[in-house]
Order: sequence, then C-alpha cells, then structure tokens
Amino acid sequence: MLTEEMTDLRDRIGKLLADGLKTEIEPVPETEKEFGDILNRLRALNPGDLSGKLVIAGFIDHPYGDDQVRCMECMYYLVHQRWCDLPELALPVEADWRCRLWRI
Ligand code: SF4
Repeated sequence: MLTEEMTDLRDRIGKLLADGLKTEIEPVPETEKEFGDILNRLRALNPGDLSGKLVIAGFIDHPYGDDQVRCMECMYYLVHQRWCDLPELALPVEADWRCRLWRI
C-alpha cells in the first residue's frame, strides 16, 4: 500500500473512532481459543469491511484499562510504518491506539 493511501486510511479509521464507533473493547481474550475465535470472525468478514474489522477487534483510539497498553507496545506494531502487522487486521494505526488482540 502506498504511503499516501495508508495515511488516508489511518485518517478514516481515526475519524470513525473519534466519531464514537462502538467496538467490542471487551471481553479481552484470555485463552488461545478466545483469541482464535476473534481471528475467525475477522477472517469471515468481507475484505472491504473496515468498520467490521474495527468493531470485532475492539479498536479504541487511546490506552485502555489498568495496563494502559497501546499499539506501541504490541508485538504486531511496526514502528516505522505505523502499521498493524496482524494479518487479519493489516491496517495503518497510531501508536496510541489499541485493540483487544494486543499481545507482547
Ligand atoms: S494487534 Fe491491536 S494493539 Fe496490536 S498493533 Fe494491531 S491494532 Fe494495535
């Protein structure tokens, strides 16, 4: 994806979240099965269903919960591209966002 397209998409996602898109922030998966169930739901989406991805993954545009973790500390976050490298998401993200698939 071109840098310009990534920036546009990141802005679109940021606007959806800022406009109050209700996403499934919880429950956070605690087992591999729960994690895998969320991945399966993401895989079943139409590839162009951006809101669906954000909802199922539980995106929010700020740190959340006791741990206050963010994309920045997630193993899937590519710092230089500001990109989520989890294949089921594969989206441009901001360091301060997070989703419930966060992993270290
Ligand atoms: S998996 Fe979630 S928390 Fe991790 S980089 Fe991707 S969007 Fe951010």
